[in-house]
Amino acid sequence: MKLIRFGKPGQEKPGVMLAGKRFDVSNFVFDYDENFFGNNGIELLDEWLRKNIDSCPLASDDERLGPPTARPSKIVCVGLNYAGHAKESGMDVPEQPVVFFKATSAIVGPNDDLVIPRNSKKTDWEVELALVIGKKAKYVNESSAYDHIAGYVLHNDYSEREFQLEHGGQWVKGKSADTFAPIGPFMATKDEIADPHHLKLWLEVNGMRVQESNTSDLIFKIPQLLSHISSYMTLLPGDIISTGTPSGVGMGFKPARFLKAGDVVELGIEGLGSSRQKVVSYK
Ligand code: ZN
Repeated sequence: MKLIRFGKPGQEKPGVMLAGKRFDVSNFVFDYDENFFGNNGIELLDEWLRKNIDSCPLASDDERLGPPTARPSKIVCVGLNYAGHAKESGMDVPEQPVVFFKATSAIVGPNDDLVIPRNSKKTDWEVELALVIGKKAKYVNESSAYDHIAGYVLHNDYSEREFQLEHGGQWVKGKSADTFAPIGPFMATKDEIADPHHLKLWLEVNGMRVQESNTSDLIFKIPQLLSHISSYMTLLPGDIISTGTPSGVGMGFKPARFLKAGDVVELGIEGLGSSRQKVVSYK
């Protein structure tokens, strides 16, 4: 199943994409939130759809797509998880996963504008495979990691490199501005993705392909990441884990290249669709 949320920011309704059509399932589901994922919501929704698809209202294709899941308790990101990106960042491949937070207030819809924050000179892009937690995860073994996953989403982990690396303290400062986390277009449930470690991913700036890789290049794989992160914190249903970006970010160009108003960023992952953000200045 492909879960979507559509409508104005903050007023999104839940839907599903089926055979190219958008169905409005708000008669059955309140939202794709912790309660939904934590109480077997995907299975119940699937059953309900089988019975009610003929009477289920359609949503217009013109409606804005919001992020496909409700704002989670946390976004946990993994840094330097592709060897090429660690190298272009001038950092060693880590011995253990590099883990950092991104503010959940940064989440926006897949095709919303990217707003360059005030005083930013180094706003940069990062295409990433992210996963959505389906079942509370605490001290999870690698062997049971997939039991805790609801599905997968496309994520652009926008990053302000000066805020991230030159303003002291933690990376969170460069990762958390409003609009820095476009998610979607949809969340593919786990059964839709046969092998999450075999997906092409790419990103283009103004039509020029700058990132192109495959999730087979992930250094720490999804089971390792879930086991590692859940040994430090409890992951709740709906939480998002972003698995890291491959090489080709602006910081890695010589000379470095960053986003400016008017640029257009497009990205995609095999099986997870594509998204597009127009770059605008903060006003
Ligand atoms: Zn990232």
